[in-house]
Amino acid sequence: MDACFSAFDKDGDGFLNIEEFDGICKGLFRNDRGIVYSLDVHTLKHIFNIFDTKKDGLIDRQEFTMCWNKWIKTIIRPVNIFLIIDVQNDFISGSLNISNCSAQQNGLEVIEPINHLLDTVNFDSVFYSFDWHPIDHISFIENLSLRPLDSSSPIKANNAQLYDTVVFEGSPKIKQRLWPKHCVQDSWGAQLYKDLKVVDNAVKIYKGTISDVDSYSVFWDNKKLTQTTLGTQLAKLNATDIYVCGLAYDVCVGATAADALSIGYRTILIDDCCRGVDLNDIEKTKNNVVKNHGVIVQSNEIKTMVEGRDRRPELGYKLALEIEKSMEKENYK
Ligand SMILES: [Zn+2]
Repeated sequence: MDACFSAFDKDGDGFLNIEEFDGICKGLFRNDRGIVYSLDVHTLKHIFNIFDTKKDGLIDRQEFTMCWNKWIKTIIRPVNIFLIIDVQNDFISGSLNISNCSAQQNGLEVIEPINHLLDTVNFDSVFYSFDWHPIDHISFIENLSLRPLDSSSPIKANNAQLYDTVVFEGSPKIKQRLWPKHCVQDSWGAQLYKDLKVVDNAVKIYKGTISDVDSYSVFWDNKKLTQTTLGTQLAKLNATDIYVCGLAYDVCVGATAADALSIGYRTILIDDCCRGVDLNDIEKTKNNVVKNHGVIVQSNEIKTMVEGRDRRPELGYKLALEIEKSMEKENYK
């Protein structure tokens, strides 16, 4: 750390000014071929100000220690989690085969690139999620008559169609899209697709297990009333970077990526390892990830990122923002 500070303190005055800090960022944010990712001036200044805790326009050795421990170390040595979402029979060739949805995408196409990543990239941990519903689950159109609709529901029970959104009575009221019966616990449809590689020591996470509320995100149900074990397991591993992919892009993958970002994880969406339901919603999912400082990449970019040899500025900025948030919390205590 001291050597790094001294190397970048070009004028040797014992402080890093913003130009010298820019030198550190140029060293950090580059790919494995040494091509530097540009950081716009506004972002650079913001990051500099986060670590300039004394707000004197300079980073001293004490401030740099925090910057090193909380920021640079993670950028160079992230703890990488591969989260493979709902690659289950029903979404590929079963009752909720996504190729019947408006985007007409083929879920089978995610198997090969996901398996290739599992074979070639050394993630710290691999997670598989399962949509895992009881037979009386609220999301099944077959179960529409089991629960009364709220008077505010835009669609009434007698003319509700597949993929419509209705509102069920309750406190809270539950807005729910209607899907065909799918991923019933312990059924063939809920099994992972047979050709998907399952690695040793993988963690399996089950969601949507409560009858009266659906769960798109692998973290929480759609009302955030209950959570899966994902959050605590990631915390136990000191995870920093979450690579998400699977089915369906604009439903469970999108909701999981949004939650990962909101919790504060550096989040990477693997575009070619996802297939979805609706093209507009896939676009919205991507926009939401980028807007919240996640990145969208193709699977052939992952290996060098996981190895810390391709370091993206968006993810560095995301981490800096999280550090800023936690410092603000400390200051309010
Ligand atoms: Zn489901």
